[in-house]
This record gives sequence, C-alpha cells and structure tokens, in this order.
Amino acid sequence: MITSQQATSIVLENLLALSSERIPSEEATNRVLREPVRADRDFPPFHRVTMDGVAFALHTLPNSQTLTVAGVQHAGEPPQRCPPRQCLEVMTGAVLPLGTDTVVRYEDVEFGEVNEKRTATLRVVPNQPGQSVHPRGSDRRQGDVLLRPGTLLGAPNIAVAASVGKTHLPVSRLPSVGIISTGDELVSLDKVPLPHQIRQSNGYALQAALLSLGVPATRYHLSDEQEAVYAGVAQTLDRHDLLLISGGVSRGKRDYVPDALAAAGVIERFHRVQQRPGKPLWFGQRPPDKKVVFGLPGNPVSTLVGFYRYVKPWLLASLSQTPSFPLRASLSEPVEFPPELTYFLTVRVHVADDGRLIATPRPGNGSGDFTNLVNCQGFVELPAERSRFAAGEAFPLYLFRDSETCMIKT
Ligand code: AMP
Ligand code: MG
Repeated sequence: MITSQQATSIVLENLLALSSERIPSEEATNRVLREPVRADRDFPPFHRVTMDGVAFALHTLPNSQTLTVAGVQHAGEPPQRCPPRQCLEVMTGAVLPLGTDTVVRYEDVEFGEVNEKRTATLRVVPNQPGQSVHPRGSDRRQGDVLLRPGTLLGAPNIAVAASVGKTHLPVSRLPSVGIISTGDELVSLDKVPLPHQIRQSNGYALQAALLSLGVPATRYHLSDEQEAVYAGVAQTLDRHDLLLISGGVSRGKRDYVPDALAAAGVIERFHRVQQRPGKPLWFGQRPPDKKVVFGLPGNPVSTLVGFYRYVKPWLLASLSQTPSFPLRASLSEPVEFPPELTYFLTVRVHVADDGRLIATPRPGNGSGDFTNLVNCQGFVELPAERSRFAAGEAFPLYLFRDSETCMIKT
C-alpha cells in the first residue's frame, strides 16, 4: 500500500491536458488565465491629477501666493498650457496642464477677484513639486506583464484586463466531468427509502464541491449489477474527461468498479492508500486519451475528504492554476492516533487574536457520519509516522469552502 505522499505525487503526474479557450472577460471570473496580459500603455498613461484643486509651476510661485486663474482643465480633455505664473483649476482624473508640476486641493485654496480676474490664494504651499500628481508610468510601463498565466481571475484581475482593452481572455477550458454514484442500497431523493435503503448523497456532495470551483458536472447512478457497472463505466468514460466514482472500490463482493475500469482500458495507477478515512482510494488513467478516474470510497466522509485532499489539487493543477500557499492550522488540544496511517481529522477552525488558525478536533462517529461535517470547516492532515500530536502544533489544513465563507461565527 502506498503512502498519501506517494499517492499525491502519482495523482499530480497524471494531469489532464486542458486546452485554452477565449471567452468574454465578463464571464472570466474564477477562470484561470493562460497567456500574459501586458500594459498597452504606461500606467497611468499621463501625469494624472489626483485632487480637485489648482495646478501651477511651483518654482515660479509669487511671494503673495496669489495666482490668476487662467481657466479650467477638466477630466477627459486634452492638456491645456498654463501661462507662466498663473494657475488652472484642475479636476481629479484630468491631465496635468502643460507648464505646471504641482496641485493644491480646493480645501487649501481661497478664491477671490483682482481687476475682474479670478484669483486663487494658496493657504498651504508644498515644499516639493509633484503634490497630488500621479506621474505617468509610475505604476507600470508599457509592455510590462500585468497578469501572469496561471492567475485565478478575480475582481482586481478583471479590472486590469479591462483597462488594457481585453474584451476576451484566454482561459483554461473546463473539463467535462461525470460523477457516478454506485450502490443497490441507494435511492433517489424523491423516493422514501425502505428500512434497508438510504438516499444517495455523495453525487450531490461532489457536484457541489466541483461547482464551488466553477466546474459543472453531470451525475449518474449505477446499481451494483456487474453488467450495469461495466457498461455504465465505459459509456460515461466516453462522454467525459474526468470521472469521479463514489463507492464500489472496496473489497465487497459487488465492488466491480476496479474491474470495470480495467475492462474500459483505464490503467490503475494505485489502489489503497495508507490513510484514514478513505483507504480504498482508486486512481487511474486511460493512456490513449489521458482521461482520468478517481474511485472514491463510498463512505460520505471518505468521499469528500478524498475530493479535497486529492481531486481538488489535481483539478487546479490540470487547469494550470498557480499553486497557492498551503494552509496550516494549530491543534487546540493534543491528539493520539496510533495506527500507521495518515489521519485526516475533521476539525472546527477559528482565527485566534494573533491571526493563527486554530483547529479543534471534531472526529464525529467516523467516516459514515457525514452529519458531523456540517459542524466542521475542513480537516487537518496528521502524518502516519507519528501517533501523538501536541496542542499548538501546526498541520496542513484543507477547507471545505473558501476561508472567508466557511469561518462564519457561530
Ligand atoms: P462502498 O464504498 O460502496 O462500500 O460504500 C461504503 C458506504 O458508503 C456504504 O455504507 C454505502 O451505503 C455508503 N455510500 C456509498 N455511496 C453513497 C452515496 N452515493 N451516498 C451516500 N452514501 C453512500
Ligand atoms: Mg457500495
């Protein structure tokens, strides 16, 4: 049996080769950029006025600090030239008038009239030129890379892309995903289960987990009949780039999924990992078309832990997303776990006053107890080599949702 680290390496060696597609920028939020976005001009493209006020040349300022107002420079107008020893009123976002280098905001100016001419008397005079001016090219130069390939596009990235005129952006194509739940004990949501049956939930869990990453998926269900599993797996594999299968990968008499996958040409890369929960995890790839299959053990906690621990990082890497810093959280109390297995311990997470993430163990009743998951924000990964873990020690943390949305105060 392989370790979870070995499983991670194998998974990340078998990525989907997702091509790039051009889509409208307003639809590109949460997609992964594939080509650099460069500045088409300097940022800002002209000396930009940053306050409503008056602009003048500081070195020719008369001792009286009173200047004749020669006119107004509005935003969106080509630059005017300011006559020597006079000033122009300027608006935020306007080009700095030619012949000026300094702006004093309205709050520090008193307007008057001398010989029927409007005048501005400065209450405060800066020591240096350049006040309230955002110099051309001081943020970025024309040709600079503003957005790198691999960027997950959020609001600031979309704003930058818009500012250089990108109506469309090249992003990673989303994979086509099929989710198969298996099991004769499972009934659909609209049925009342018989005493020996349950409603199927893993298909919905996986669909929701994918959707929160912006990836839609189609759900299927297969009974535990051998022919149904063989035919269903082969057909679904033909329709999709990625299959997530829940259940049917353990040692049960009707666990036909691994054999059905082999019959469909999918090569097993590993089966069974030294971990709890989710030991029977199955992973494979079909060499000719590079389609990938994760066989997640059916216990609902194993299914979701398997998704967040293996499928999600694999998916982000397949989408060419630049890896983020891994999260870590400190245990709130000591934990003992003697088996030589990597232990994915479900936890509640909160942020301490000093900013550290604190993980409080909430193991629930094991991998069948998925009602416990709604009281947990995620799980920590405790290494197999040790059996005792001290309070305050930090371990890798996997969250079920974004940190902003999952750490709601309760
Ligand atoms: P299996 O991996 O098929 O042996 O299933 C392990 C356990 O998970 C069994 O108790 C199943 O009833 C349960 N299970 C399997 N698939 C699902 C599902 N889609 N929804 C809810 N529970 C499931
Ligand atoms: Mg089953």
